[in-house]
Amino acid sequence: MSGKAVMHFINGEYTPGTSGKVFQNINPVDGSVICDVHEGLKPEVDAAVTAAKDALRGPWGKMTIEERVAILHKVADGVNARFDEFLEAECKDTGKPKSLARHIDIPRGASNFKAFAEVIKNAPTETFPMATPDGTGALNYSIRTPKGVIAVISPWNLPLLLMTWKVGPALACGNTVVVKPSEETPLTTSLLGEVMNDAGVPAGVYNVVNGFGPDSAGAYLTEHPDVDAITFTGETSTGTAIMKAAAVGMRDVSMELGGKNPAIVFADCDMDKAIEGVMRSVFVNCGQVCLGTERVYVERPIFDEFVARLKAGAEDLKVGEPDDEDANFGPLISKEHQEKVLGYYDLARKLGANVVTGGGVPDMGDALSGGAWVEPTIWTGLDDDSAIMREEIFGPCCHISPFDDEDEVILRANDTVYGLACSIWTENLSKSHRVAGQIESGLTWVNSWFLRDLRTPFGGSKQSGIGREGGVHSLEFYTELRNICVKL
Ligand code: NAD
Repeated sequence: MSGKAVMHFINGEYTPGTSGKVFQNINPVDGSVICDVHEGLKPEVDAAVTAAKDALRGPWGKMTIEERVAILHKVADGVNARFDEFLEAECKDTGKPKSLARHIDIPRGASNFKAFAEVIKNAPTETFPMATPDGTGALNYSIRTPKGVIAVISPWNLPLLLMTWKVGPALACGNTVVVKPSEETPLTTSLLGEVMNDAGVPAGVYNVVNGFGPDSAGAYLTEHPDVDAITFTGETSTGTAIMKAAAVGMRDVSMELGGKNPAIVFADCDMDKAIEGVMRSVFVNCGQVCLGTERVYVERPIFDEFVARLKAGAEDLKVGEPDDEDANFGPLISKEHQEKVLGYYDLARKLGANVVTGGGVPDMGDALSGGAWVEPTIWTGLDDDSAIMREEIFGPCCHISPFDDEDEVILRANDTVYGLACSIWTENLSKSHRVAGQIESGLTWVNSWFLRDLRTPFGGSKQSGIGREGGVHSLEFYTELRNICVKL
């Protein structure tokens, strides 16, 4: 049975909009309909952007930083106070195990508001006293002002966490936002509207329009002339379309895009730690993590042992529904994505890969046969230039290749159009620093993966992104730095 239709959240109120169009929100666990979602088109986007623009001139624009920061703490507390509702909504939309979302999606989603509130409260600006020919001098100082209306376009893999990762700093800096969540995962973004109202966020500061990308809410939003900047997380090809839209009117963009991330495992690694880390980086969230590993390079002396142990780990994963507390492996996001991932599973076989484990669809019984399930999968034996090694699959799978020397593996790890994340496994301190410095990715972990400090720069190199968010680096995108020169 389906629940209440999801509406847009515009100017502090839930509204179905005027387009009259709805689409279905499908549960990836069994293919059932969770609810209808109202689709926003031009009128809904216009209304949301107008509300956001007006709110900049209202009480929000006049608040002190301290007042804004206090409200953002209330937003975080509000999410935590309704933790179970957010957890339920997120797991319905994504099918992911509650045991995972309880530790990552919801708490980190809430803490983004507090982390960026603290950043803005403590952010310094610069002053340059300057000499002038008449001897009186001048004083230059800079101020940070909000950029204006920020369009936030977010993906489905970590819906609340990745959306608040943008909304948190945007609001901390005094901007207003119009969010277009993924069409696959509208529930938590919608629920956050209630929390915003309860926390005292003025109407029009946080707006949500649901819909798709092309010819729908996403495209209308990014094309809207009153949107001052666009922050996007999603596929590189979508980012390209959004940059074209942003070029009209010279709007700034922040792009967090796809990856084809390597893990490099040296023979002198701590094998237990490496297996644990690579297991997580390949299979957590059913492989649907932008920072996840799809290419594993293992030094030849330990190759066979590593492959055997990763295989055992993959076969030990417990596939199950969100409510199954023992489950650590859920379905993919949708049937459409399942088809894409299974296409790569077929391709790997056709290309002659050795299928170490998986490669198909698990038998989940009749009740769940309509779900988007796939098996955790490991391959060996393919060349570095095969599509399996070049294209982002975004599923629970990896290819493992042997390597013989440090320079060789650095070249192979960097041989990709992407540059998002890498993990290096070695107990040799000098080697870890030497290799990490040569990897062309925005984030490199040594003997760990997904260990995140929100004060650090986050973003991709090459086709994995533009700009850095996190800590003070978020200020570069979410504020306008202005210089004031006072002749004394
Ligand atoms: P996607 O690009 O298909 O969609 C992302 C969002 O963009 C959705 O809300 C979608 O409706 C919207 N959209 C699509 N076309 C649009 C258009 N023309 N104009 C405006 N909006 C449009 O991505 P996805 O499938 O939701 O997410 C998976 C991808 O996201 C993977 O490539 C993954 O690597 C990437 N990702 C990157 C990061 C990062 O931090 N670098 C984090 C998570 C996910």
